[in-house]
Order: sequence, then C-alpha cells, then structure tokens
Amino acid sequence: MTTRQKLKQIAANLWWSWQPDAIDLFRQLNPDVFGATDNNPLRAVKHSRSEVLSDTEFNRKVDAVYTRLQAYLSTDGELAAAPRIAYFCMEYGLHESLPLYSGGLGILAGDHTKAASDLGVPLTAVGLFLREGYFKQYFNEKGQQQADYPAKPVTSLPIELAENDSGDPITVTVHLGHQPIVLRAWILSVGRSRLVLLDCDIDPNPFQYRYLTRRLYAGDTRTRIRQEILLGIGGLRMLRALGEEPERYHMNEGHCAFVGLELMRERLATGQSRDEAEQWVRDHCIFTTHTPVKAGHDRFDSDLFLDQMSHYRSELAMSDGDLLSYGRANPADVSEPFTMTILGLRLASITNGVSRLNGEVARAQWHHLFPEKPVEQVPIGHVTNGVHLPTWTSPLARPFLDSRLPGWLEDPDAWLNVDQIPDNELWEYRRQLRKALIEFAQERGRKQTLPQNPSLDPDVLTIGFARRFATYKRAPLFFHDMQRAIEFFASEDRPLQMIYAGKAHPADSSGKEFIRHIYELTQHPALHGRLVFLENYDMEIGRMLVSGADVWLNNPRRPYEASGTSGQKVAVHGGLNFSILDGWWPEGFDGTNGWSIGMDSSAAYMDPAVQDDQDAGFIYDTLETSILPAFYDRNGGQIPEGWITMMRSAMRKLPYQFSARRMVRDYAVNYYMVEALPTGG
Ligand SMILES: *Cc1c(COP(=O)(O)O)cnc(C)c1O
Repeated sequence: MTTRQKLKQIAANLWWSWQPDAIDLFRQLNPDVFGATDNNPLRAVKHSRSEVLSDTEFNRKVDAVYTRLQAYLSTDGELAAAPRIAYFCMEYGLHESLPLYSGGLGILAGDHTKAASDLGVPLTAVGLFLREGYFKQYFNEKGQQQADYPAKPVTSLPIELAENDSGDPITVTVHLGHQPIVLRAWILSVGRSRLVLLDCDIDPNPFQYRYLTRRLYAGDTRTRIRQEILLGIGGLRMLRALGEEPERYHMNEGHCAFVGLELMRERLATGQSRDEAEQWVRDHCIFTTHTPVKAGHDRFDSDLFLDQMSHYRSELAMSDGDLLSYGRANPADVSEPFTMTILGLRLASITNGVSRLNGEVARAQWHHLFPEKPVEQVPIGHVTNGVHLPTWTSPLARPFLDSRLPGWLEDPDAWLNVDQIPDNELWEYRRQLRKALIEFAQERGRKQTLPQNPSLDPDVLTIGFARRFATYKRAPLFFHDMQRAIEFFASEDRPLQMIYAGKAHPADSSGKEFIRHIYELTQHPALHGRLVFLENYDMEIGRMLVSGADVWLNNPRRPYEASGTSGQKVAVHGGLNFSILDGWWPEGFDGTNGWSIGMDSSAAYMDPAVQDDQDAGFIYDTLETSILPAFYDRNGGQIPEGWITMMRSAMRKLPYQFSARRMVRDYAVNYYMVEALPTGG
C-alpha cells in the first residue's frame, strides 16, 4: 500500500481526530490547505506536497500511525461485552470539518460516540446528513451576526454511501403525511463506532422535500417534525436495512423519540398486543433529557402532528387519540400539543437527566406525568455528562501529561501524581497554554470578516467565555455594571483580558442582540484590544479557548444549564472554573478547585433582574478578593502559590470524573448492561 493510500485510510476514520500525531501528518502534507478547510484531512491528502510524501521520516510516521489504527480496530475494548447499542441524536459534534452540530448536545453525542469506541461498547449512532450543517457565523460592520450555509462537497467528507451487494444504494421509505420519502445513508467511521447519516436529497423525492436533511434547526415546526420523523422512524428502518441488530435503543433528547413509536409498530406487526408491545419497547429503550428550558422541548400542535402522521397512523393501526396520548401529559385534553419529551419518557423505562441537579429538576419538571408518585420517586435518574479527553486536550499539553501523569487518559489515580510535579513546571505548563491561545486569538482576530485588533498580553489573567448565545446563559452579565467591569480591565497591576466566542440561533433575536452588544463593547476605548470576540465558534476555537484560558466563566440562570460541558474541558489544562452552581459544577466544586457564583440552593430566585444584580456583584467581589490575588500574588520565584494549589486540586479531581469515559461506563454498567430493565412509572 502506498503512503497516500495509508493516509486516505487514516483520514477515513475519525479516530485520527483524537490522535495528535495523525493530525500533525495531515498538517505537514499541506498546512495551508489543511488550515483553510477547517483542518480537513481529505483535502490535505488531495493536495499533498510531493516532497513530504517522499520524505523517509514522514513515511515512517505514517506507518506508525497506520499500524496503531489497525491495532485499535482489531482489538476489543474493555466493555466489548456490553449489548449492541443504537444511539440516536439530531446533532453530532465530532470535528470542525464536519459541522453537524450547533452546541453542547451535539458535542456530547460526538464525545459519547468516541468514548464508546475507546471502551469497545458496540455502538451505531444515527443522525441526519446535514450537508449544509449549522451555519457559519460572521459579522457585518455593525457587529451583527450573519449566517452562511456553505454546502460541503461530498468528496471532502470521510463518508461512504451504504450500498447493497449489487452496488445499489440501500434505501428505506418513510411517509410524511401521504408523501413517501426515500432515504439513503452515508456511513462515517468513528473509531470502532459507526455513524449512519440519513439523506433525502435524492430522486425520486419531490424538490420541496429534499432540503429536509440539509440543515440543522432551520425552518418552522413543520420542517422540524418532518426532520424528526425522518430521524426516528427513518433511522430505525435504515438500521434494519443495514442489517444491524441493536439490543438497546438510546434516544438522546426528544428530537429522535419517534424511534419508540417505530419500535411499537414493529412489535404490533408481530401480533403483540399494545400492552405487550409497549412493555417490550420500554424494556429496550433509554431516554436522556437535556434541558429544563421549555423551548428546548419540541411540541407539535395535534393538527400538524396528525397531518404529518396521516399515513403512518394507518401503519400503526392506532386511533388518533391513542397515538396522541403518547405525547400528552393529559391524554384527555384534546387541546394539548404532542410533546416529544413526553413520548420519550413514556416509551423508555430508563430515563435520565445529565447532572445530579438536572435529574432533580427533571423529576420536578415531569412529576405531573407520574401523579401517583412522590416527586423523589419520579423514575428519572441522572448520568452526569463528561467530555472525551483525547479530543479536548491540547496537543501541546499531551507530552507534559504523558511524562508527568502516565495513564492520565484511563486511570483516575494517575491524576494524584499532580502533587509530585514542582510548582514551576505547573506554572510553565499554564503559561505555555495561555500563550498559545493568545497567539491564536491575535491571528484569528485580525483575519476575521470584521477584523478585531487584539492586543492581548500572554502574562495577563485571561478569562474565556464561549458557548451558544441562548439568553439563559447571560453572556453579557460580566458587563452588568460597566464601571466596575472597566476597572478590572484597566487595572495597572492586576489587569484581566477576556476572549468571547459563540453563535446565537438565527431566529433568536435576543441572543443576536447579546452578540452585537458584546461586539460593541470590544470597541469601547477602555476595553479595546483586551476584550475580543472571535467569529464562528466551532470545535477548533473551543479547543484553543478551553486549553488557554486561566478562568472559565459560566454564568447561566440557575437551574437552566442542564450540565454544561465546556468547563469540564478546562481542568486538564490547569484552568479553573468560575461558575454558577448549576449543571455539573455542584458535583465538581469542592471549595478548593475553582470558584462558585451565587448559592447552591434550590430556592428559585424571585426576580431575574435581582438575580442578575446579585450574580454580577458576586462575580466582581470574587474576582477582587480571590481570583486576582490567587493569580497575581507571587512568591520569591515569581510563582503564584495560591493558584498552583487550586490548579492541583482541580487536576486531581475533575478530569476523570467529568470525562466521557466515566460517563459511557456509567451508561453501560448502570443502563445498557442491565439484564431485565426494571419497569418504572
Ligand atoms: C464544549 C462545547 C460546547 C458546549 O458548551 P457548554 O458550555 O456546555 O454550553 C458547545 N460548543 C462547542 C464548540 C464546544 O466545544
């Protein structure tokens, strides 16, 4: 096999995306092309420089990576005995060159798929092809967010069309209303896992239906229910057509919950009674809910729902009322819409939220579905989210971790050795990572559509804030009291600087206004150059920010952040979280490994304006009395001992506990491998 063929095979499995040495090879092939295509390896291979391909040392490295990939694929992981899992989700965040994600839900699904691969849990994931993905963000001269949807050429993606033995595409048909829609599937390899991407942009589908699998979260509720029918019903049919034989069905968030109905249809078709079918489906399904935000739960008017289900209903042989009852809290209420989360909760016996607090909140939120139970017995548990460490750890950090904390990717105890690392080494580690971020931000800032001219200082305390600009995340909270905020930036001896990134959903005018506002602040004379907004938040910007920022600021309105994961990516790099006690942070924070904002009480705040005042005040006070001293008080050797102590504490405890490895293990052991799933509710 030629070097080029080996490189193509490496590029064809996303395993490469969490192997720094593989990434290096692709970059070397053609750094300009690689950088200009969101680090797309197939493009780099296509435009390889011949002098690199003929270099002996390069060839030796390709061989080594190729051999490692083959070894990875041919060995079983430690959880290979787990049942075969079909995992459904609307979005997947796997790499910046595959824009199949909008935010945390997608990143989580991508990390889940990768960690399942590492552990050997046999998993096939299902999603939509989304060739135009989620939008690319840029700014106009007023600092307003603009959206662009560049379609990816199929040849630039590491996918293969699923074909049968005679070389024809494997297809399945699903009805939207009375309109039959044909789906084909693209297969993406993610280590040992597979991701099946459904595509309806083909003949013989009528033109006005073909866009349905092209863009993520674009369009009205009719588009949305259609996409969800394709994902849930079409997705399961496709798995059958591909010959997959899953033993458990994991529905990740309500978008895909029609899987449950399609399983019902299959059981009913075997002659089972409705009760038997329901029992079987519940015994084989896991449903994960991700948000207490009401708008995050798709609800469809019964007219729209029945219209889109008009043909499917006859396949199910169920009355309108019976069908609707699966998505209604009160089946007798004919005005109640059909809610996807309720469908998921009704057809899965194991259901969970994504942090301890979120589990509690979800039990209260859905208590009305289980009126006979006290709220603590509502059958919704929790598995706290975690991040795929190999994906989110900076390549710069790896040699240090490999040499000082051997086993850091798999072994929680490896992290205890952080106590043996001398202070000055830890500080140098932090400094190098911050410096790399500053260089990246300087360059990105200058190159973006609406250029910024950052004058960031590699020795100044750097705060990172990057996430979707959903309003509950309160991106501009830091500037609640402009005067106080400015004083921090302008301080002579203890200054700070901030880097922002994030997209608002194109239909979210308040979120877009937050972006414009922060952009405007970057032009404020007292903040200019020290407050930077990077365009087009994606996984690459994410990786840079979570590795380089000293402080990761997270100030959602409690308890709306179901878990949050960006802060989990920070600790491995010695960064510290400064967060509302929401989502995962009440489980992570122990008083010594970062900072909290506000109180850890379930008491809902009275008035959002009061909450903003209080939380902003808390942020300023904590900065002044704790964070700035920890960073700027130095000993004789110029080491901030206070900071180093907290950094050690964070590194000892957080990276493994909030890793996707721990998370998938929890799902596997507590949910997937349970022989006979208990039947709640
Ligand atoms: C980690 C990550 C997220 C999730 O961020 P939260 O802080 O959990 O909302 C979203 N987008 C990208 C690109 C990420 O890397």
